[in-house]
Amino acid sequence: MYVIALDAGTTSVRAILYDRNGKALESASRPIRIKTPRPGWVQQDAEEIYAQAVNALRELADKAALTASDVAAIGIANQRETVVVWDKSTGIPVYDAIVWQCRRTTDICEKVKSDGMSVEIFEKTGLQVDAYFSATKIKWILDNVPGVTDRAAKGQLLAGTVDSYLVWKLTGGKVHITDHTNASRTMLYNIRDLKWDKGLLDYFKIPPCMLPEVTDSAARVGYTDVLGGFVLIGGIVGDQQASLFGHCCFEKGEAKNTYGTGSFMLINTKDYVRAPSGLLNTIAWSIDGKVTYAIEGSVFVSGALIQWLRDQMGILRSAEESEELALQIHDNGGLYIVPAFAGLGAPYWDMHARGLIVGITRGTTKAHIARAALESMAYQVYDVFEEVKQNTGFAIKSLKVDGGASANNFLMQFQSDILGVDVVRSKDKETTARGAAYVAGITAGIWDFGALKGLDQVDKVFKPDVNFDKAKAINGWKRAVERSRKWAI
Ligand code: ADP
Repeated sequence: MYVIALDAGTTSVRAILYDRNGKALESASRPIRIKTPRPGWVQQDAEEIYAQAVNALRELADKAALTASDVAAIGIANQRETVVVWDKSTGIPVYDAIVWQCRRTTDICEKVKSDGMSVEIFEKTGLQVDAYFSATKIKWILDNVPGVTDRAAKGQLLAGTVDSYLVWKLTGGKVHITDHTNASRTMLYNIRDLKWDKGLLDYFKIPPCMLPEVTDSAARVGYTDVLGGFVLIGGIVGDQQASLFGHCCFEKGEAKNTYGTGSFMLINTKDYVRAPSGLLNTIAWSIDGKVTYAIEGSVFVSGALIQWLRDQMGILRSAEESEELALQIHDNGGLYIVPAFAGLGAPYWDMHARGLIVGITRGTTKAHIARAALESMAYQVYDVFEEVKQNTGFAIKSLKVDGGASANNFLMQFQSDILGVDVVRSKDKETTARGAAYVAGITAGIWDFGALKGLDQVDKVFKPDVNFDKAKAINGWKRAVERSRKWAI
């Protein structure tokens, strides 16, 4: 028997096939278009997401000569926070999916803050008031798409994150569901009572009848016949939480960071432990009725800085070249970059910060720029790490890593030096999909936690260099961040 992970990301939907030994045997990937009709607006066609998910699943089945009966379960990992509102009888979305990156609800968020809701929202949902989360996106659709408020009040519309829309479509409209991890990113779900929060739904004027039932991440979600026979959907988990699970960070204090466009660090706290200022509380997963919590630090710009140096500035020919350049010099020569392109995320949450390059001298070369860029990616992770360490007393012993930029050996070594802990890179780069497969495999009885630990395969461990002058490096970074803050006021 096999398990399939369906990883519905922002830029593509991937389907990956795993055997009992956790070996990834085959994969298929389909792109998803991103629309940016106005500056700061980001949306996608939800029907395209579904169609591409089905295409990826069928291509995978073809490639691997699979039939439905070979598959024990499908697990879904998905881009989080992105919202779809659709008609209950036709499945047709009333508007494009509003993507997590979309900033169109910034003004609504300012109003929420000036209404004095921030503390209540943090206490209940674990989140900072920000356009990033789902609540204000649903509200925007209700307020701006003609006729929608009425239809919603009459119970004709459903709302959910991408996982909910996919499951609803995959099950032929039979199941309207999400899991605890996705619910915890909506800014409408009380992560301690484990209920949609009535007070917040009233405040945002979102009819409760639109929202999905919330289930465990590992659960018998429903059955789909898109592969020609019925296959169990055995789990749902938001992408960052899926990655934490895929890294087998099952114990309290185990942490992972994903270095993609942005960077996302999650630390397993087992029980709810109030997040320090600037960080979020979130649900890591729920299995057998037991909810595991995490603290999350989201950094907006990580690998995107390397992209910017390559595509906009022409300083790099490729992302990989950043490593080669960084290694040509022995230190950053006092140069720091703060990549606050769209403000700073965790732990600062300063929307008015802007990017800077500071410490330029006549001797500055593009090698210094490349090095400072990679270092900034590591410093941002350090900021989150320290915030957690100092405010929760958690001893984070090592950091598991994934994402495109985790391939950069210079970055990984520097990360280890700055944090003073081992940085552990897995052999499998697709930890998000792996996490979804693991969750579904647990439901199907293929694996338990012990068995999963045995599947974990390390590519490389980066150990901290004891001679590294950490204090000096961090002092420069802190001073640079200070200068970038509250710039665009
Ligand atoms: P996402 O899933 O967010 O699209 P990926 O995990 O695919 O991102 O990672 C791509 C990002 O990582 C890009 O922003 C790219 O600039 C960066 N990146 C890829 N390879 C490297 C590398 N060798 N060194 C530094 N950055 C890299």
